[in-house]
Amino acid sequence: MTVRDEILGANERYAAQFDKGNLRAPPGRRFAVVTCMDARLDPARFLGLEEGDAHVIRNAGGLVTDDALRSLVISHHELATQEAFVIGHEACGMIGLSNERMRAQLGPAAEAVDFLGFADVHQAVRDSVRRIQESPLLPDTFGATGYVYDVRTGRLRQVT
Ligand SMILES: [Zn+2]
Repeated sequence: MTVRDEILGANERYAAQFDKGNLRAPPGRRFAVVTCMDARLDPARFLGLEEGDAHVIRNAGGLVTDDALRSLVISHHELATQEAFVIGHEACGMIGLSNERMRAQLGPAAEAVDFLGFADVHQAVRDSVRRIQESPLLPDTFGATGYVYDVRTGRLRQVT
């Protein structure tokens, strides 16, 4: 069985029991999460989320990039979320990722790409929280807090 068959089979089973077709689009718990795409992280499970609860915005590193900020602005202004949790994690593949190495590997097409690697996940989370706080497109009342998830224990710790 291919991965494609597996995921389509899983979806058949999910849809067969699905009973949440009447959810509204605005997240019921009025928050958004920005976190890493790392396969070891399952925000729905480690944050206790159900369908309809929250926006989950994921990218490599869980960074508040321009595009993540775009999503947060829409999340707040169009869909009424009131705060964001930025969640980095230990052993992130973005720690130490260098533009030089990526560009050497990928060639000229990668010259203009900033892959946004970082040295310290705590600092990366702080910088992301600050981008939310300083965005002129989000009000001061929009909350932003940062956490680091430990992939060994499943535990979140707040970044101060
Ligand atoms: Zn990561």
